[in-house]
Amino acid sequence: MQTNVNFLVAGLIFLLLILYHVSTQRRLSHSGHGIFFFCMGVGIADILLDLVTAILIDFRIPALRGLLELLLVLLYLLQVLFPYILFFYTETLRQVDGRTPAKFQVLPMLPACVLWLLVLSNHWTGLLFQVAETGLYLRGPLYLVTYCAALFYVALIGVRSLIHYRQLGKRNFLVIWQFLLITGVCVAIQAARNDFLMTGFGLSLGITLLFLTINNPYDHTDSLTGALDAQRFRELAQNRIDRKKPFHLLGLKLYQLEHINNAMGMATGNQLLVETERILREANPYGPVFRTGGNQFFTMVFSLDKYEQVCSQIRDAYEAPLSLGGEKVEFPAVICGIRDGESYRKSDVLLTYADHLFSSVPKTAETVLIQGNEETLKGFRYAQEVERFLNVALKEDLFQVYYQPVYSTETGGCVSLEALSRLYHPHLGFVPPEVFIGIAEKNDQIAKISLLQFRRICRFLQEHPEAMELVQNVKCNLSPAELLKPGHCRKLVDTMKEHGLHPSFFQFEVTETVATRYSDSLYQAAEIFMEDGVGLCLDDFGSGYANLNTVLQLPFSVVKLDKSLLSGICDTPKVALFYRGIVAAMEALGYRVVAEGVETREELDLVTRLGVAMIQGYYFSKPLSGEEILKLLRSQNKEDQ
Ligand code: C2E
Ligand code: MG
Ligand code: MG
Repeated sequence: MQTNVNFLVAGLIFLLLILYHVSTQRRLSHSGHGIFFFCMGVGIADILLDLVTAILIDFRIPALRGLLELLLVLLYLLQVLFPYILFFYTETLRQVDGRTPAKFQVLPMLPACVLWLLVLSNHWTGLLFQVAETGLYLRGPLYLVTYCAALFYVALIGVRSLIHYRQLGKRNFLVIWQFLLITGVCVAIQAARNDFLMTGFGLSLGITLLFLTINNPYDHTDSLTGALDAQRFRELAQNRIDRKKPFHLLGLKLYQLEHINNAMGMATGNQLLVETERILREANPYGPVFRTGGNQFFTMVFSLDKYEQVCSQIRDAYEAPLSLGGEKVEFPAVICGIRDGESYRKSDVLLTYADHLFSSVPKTAETVLIQGNEETLKGFRYAQEVERFLNVALKEDLFQVYYQPVYSTETGGCVSLEALSRLYHPHLGFVPPEVFIGIAEKNDQIAKISLLQFRRICRFLQEHPEAMELVQNVKCNLSPAELLKPGHCRKLVDTMKEHGLHPSFFQFEVTETVATRYSDSLYQAAEIFMEDGVGLCLDDFGSGYANLNTVLQLPFSVVKLDKSLLSGICDTPKVALFYRGIVAAMEALGYRVVAEGVETREELDLVTRLGVAMIQGYYFSKPLSGEEILKLLRSQNKEDQ
């Protein structure tokens, strides 16, 4: 045999190996997957035909002349098609706003179409090749045209990759050029040494390169569970959204994972994650499974019937105890369902909507299912608008401070003020602080907002020194993110001093949950505060799960009893007794006690009798603007005189 087909055989083996890996990694599917698969198909067919025709040409069998000609036509067709497919593939690698702009483009397709006509009419014209009666293969006068067309596409890919360097990104750009270089060298070798059939080998090397880099199916796979990652979720969901292909989502959050890791060890936590992937995969064998966060999974379902079925299967699995390492243990989860994922504009919106659903259910010891509906979607859109507006408000400092008076049961007068943040949205009205503060905490904006607000409070007091004569102190709420931010508490103290205000005029409120959870940071903050005489107040006592031992070690001077403790107090003697017990215990420990949320005369009389030192509640006043609070303080002052 004259021709060396070893390279073709080697190339074919490469491609078949890749085909095996790509097809066994069925979870690979994403936007570039289809076209890559197609590229590979064309590559394999091309090499196979090259191999068979090379052998037939070598053997020169006159009886197989017709077959050889037919196979050569097919080979030429593929050789014309491949460069165009490659061009199209490189176009799909460009990302504009996270989308791939590639569509079959007519103009670049033209040279390929003309050449196809040339190939199809070759039998009559013999312009590209001829097969003589003896079975001898002869090149036609235009045989170089296919090389020229390939060169044209190579140049086009090269130029477009330079123009769209940014959209491609450095990695894709380099891979494209490496591909062109590898195949280019192989084609040049074949052109110089006709018996070295290197073109097909170059092709397979190029495809191997794509497989190892851009189209690596293992690149976005979680090594622990084998599920796909968040980026693949975004790509796949966006791809379906763009093509308006229906899909539904089922999400699962293992909100107790952290606790399980701490209590039962990381190995058990890992087992739980692996088991979760298995449950989702078995419930939905035809859809992909994603692990989009440490304790968060999704699976995609493509019909509504299947959605209901998968949903109940997942729910059943988590309502029963799971068997991990031979032991049966209960692991409650929150399951969320979002139908018609294609109706959302962006895949990221779907993820944030799922987050919204996950966080909208109370985390009990039981597995809960929350399905998106019109109401939850409305709540989500509201939160999204608040989130957007929060950025504007932060830039333009649109927040306001309201002050709620705190009254002494002894003197009956206002002795303190609690500063509370307000945010007014032009269409939505006042946004509840719990909502915008929760969002600001999530987006790491709370420390900035608090500092803005604290400066506003200091300015207010500086401009109205009489307020400082009428009350003993101003209380401000402190978020966990503020405690954790290095230097933040020092900044607060410096701000007081910059405005010429004495630190002992301020008290910072920390909720019992925060005090328990972030006690170490709170100790450090307390040191800074105590140095200058800033007070600390334990807020919302009785609302969460305080670790009393930790909390009582902290230097609080005031404890605010949560308004929930007042519920039913006037009708249920046991509730009143309990309240009195807490007040007595707190007083005995040396704290000053504030009753929060007093709304009626009855409640006022009762809590006064139960021994609280101060009262804050709507019975006296709702939080008021700066101007209104000044008016209230002045009128009280007049009455006193
Ligand atoms: P909080 O610190 O416990 O503040 C008391 C909340 O109870 C205020 O709600 C107040 O309006 C409300 N309240 C007072 N008396 C009554 C009453 O008699 N009945 C009822 N139903 N409610 C009463 P607001 O202003 O909506 O604030 C809610 C929470 O948002 C605050 O709870 C506080 O945790 C947080 N917050 C508000 N402003 C800020 C701020 O600037 N920074 C931080 N970190 N948190 C803030
Ligand atoms: Mg408070
Ligand atoms: Mg409170």
